[in-house]
Amino acid sequence: MMSEKLAETVAEIAATLSARADRGRVADYIPELAGVDPGQFGIAVADAGGHMATAGDAATPFSIQSVSKVFALTLALGKIGDSIWHRVGREPSGNAFNSITQLEYEKGIPRNPFINAGALVVSDVILSGHTPKVALGEVLRFLHFVADDETIFIDDKVARSEEATGFRNAALANYLRAFGNLKNPVEMVLGTYFHQCAIAMTCRQLAMAGRYLAFGGRHPTSGGGVVSSDRAKRINALMLTCGHYDGSGDFAFRVGIPAKSGVGGGILAVVPGKASIAVWSPGLDAQGNSVLGSDALEMLSRRMGWSVFGD
Ligand code: GLN
Repeated sequence: MMSEKLAETVAEIAATLSARADRGRVADYIPELAGVDPGQFGIAVADAGGHMATAGDAATPFSIQSVSKVFALTLALGKIGDSIWHRVGREPSGNAFNSITQLEYEKGIPRNPFINAGALVVSDVILSGHTPKVALGEVLRFLHFVADDETIFIDDKVARSEEATGFRNAALANYLRAFGNLKNPVEMVLGTYFHQCAIAMTCRQLAMAGRYLAFGGRHPTSGGGVVSSDRAKRINALMLTCGHYDGSGDFAFRVGIPAKSGVGGGILAVVPGKASIAVWSPGLDAQGNSVLGSDALEMLSRRMGWSVFGD
């Protein structure tokens, strides 16, 4: 049974936040995202018993953007295992998600797989041996499986919008390639990356998809292993230390659970052994993280005693 306290808390959070005026700014550097209504807020929590508590716009699809980096990393690790760590680091960057400066003085090895440079290397790994279409098909199939939902799709308009304006990412990809840290043609890596970021999901679907990270690497519906429990722990550790870019320290301080944000305003958060959570509100703070999403997770982790640092 889903705890009554959880259902009540989720409803209360949505009610409190619906009254909030200060919601941050939607990402407008991707033209297609600039038009998203900032007044939306959704939350979904999947618990260990297979129940789901939702409130607000939990059934509205949004662009998951960098939240996709968690799933892409899972697939890349499945493909080449720990050898990926020769090409990407595991340290928080302390820099903006799309920063290029660090890449120069660290000679083309991105700090972690969740900043854009690191995610481009991950996309390159997924792409190897495939066409972009097949690689993206793999990402989608993975999401269909972990979320138990075959309706999850790539929003082509968002992908094309970013493709037309993604000059910074193109610069990062070319730079990585110059250092020999991309194996496939730059345009193909970028195309794969933009389409992976343009996956549309609802909070409900995202909370379902994150369950393997919350529950020891297992797919709760079938009981099958998605990744080993060690791998799930490590992905969670990276989410905690790097999931909010240069806002990761503050997020750990305020919320205290592994989580990955995206500039679409979504955040996937994982409470090991207890819950997989998705929140969404399009308005962002200066680091590109959802303002209301972070606030919602802070309220939830406090009230439920879910911080990994103690209750
Ligand atoms: N597709 C976005 C970009 O590359 C993802 C960034 C994000 O969500 N932080 O800029």
